Amino acid sequence: MPQVIFHGVRGSYPCPGPEFAEFGGNTACIEFRQEDGQPILFDLGTGITRLASQIENQDSYSAAALVSHTHWDHIQGLPFFTPLHHPGTHLDIYSPFDSRSSLIEAFDKAFTPPLFPVAWDQLGGKLIFHELSSFQFAIGSVSVKCARVPHPGVSYGYRIDDRGVSLAYVSDHQMPEDRQAISSEVLELCHNVDVLVHDAQYTNEEFLSKSDWGHCTIEYAIHVALSAGARTLIIFHHDPSHNDTIMRHISVQACKSAEKFNLNLVVAKEGMTIDL
Ligand SMILES: [Zn+2]
Ligand SMILES: [Zn+2]
Repeated sequence: MPQVIFHGVRGSYPCPGPEFAEFGGNTACIEFRQEDGQPILFDLGTGITRLASQIENQDSYSAAALVSHTHWDHIQGLPFFTPLHHPGTHLDIYSPFDSRSSLIEAFDKAFTPPLFPVAWDQLGGKLIFHELSSFQFAIGSVSVKCARVPHPGVSYGYRIDDRGVSLAYVSDHQMPEDRQAISSEVLELCHNVDVLVHDAQYTNEEFLSKSDWGHCTIEYAIHVALSAGARTLIIFHHDPSHNDTIMRHISVQACKSAEKFNLNLVVAKEGMTIDL
């Protein structure tokens, strides 16, 4: 049975410390793990370092990564991903094309001296960059679709379908002013999906002062899930100011809101595993 494992569920920046121990402080990194076939990662935030600690054979790790966009919280774990120090490692990185900077240029700028001691192309492992020019492709037996998600810069959501199970990943979703409109691309991507992993960074009150910061509320995530016919909604990309006390309160409110619509809602925690 394939599984989804949440290695990092925070947005914006990591938040370590005992007050975040229950929900976790690592930034976005989620893994689709199959019994056969290589793992597929969604984003490369600091959660990927948690994944690294679980890989027994780091000499020959092989995976594909679907990167939503190159904002820090979605890529900053990559240079610290220890399998990359081994020549047998192979990581295919898929990401949207941004005309301001190619994918390789973006990684070059971020992970090169003096910002990082070793250039990414000298890490040992093999990184293959794929700038997406098509909205549909395959990784092994897994069908992958992608769609533009409203957010500053170019950002993609992804959907994977494999042997009767489907998962959509929509991070960093700018809620419109009317709090209702949903882009047709996002709706199509999430149509009747088994599991939708979606941004839900802000409460309604927080959104009032952060309405153009590229994110959405829990209510909007529920609205997207219901409109698209998703069977289970998993909210993540939690705001780093939300400690465990706040997150527990948010969780109760979110589940109450979803219950009204008979929607199965899960609040992501770091380390959580879901069977698909
Ligand atoms: Zn983000
Ligand atoms: Zn972002």
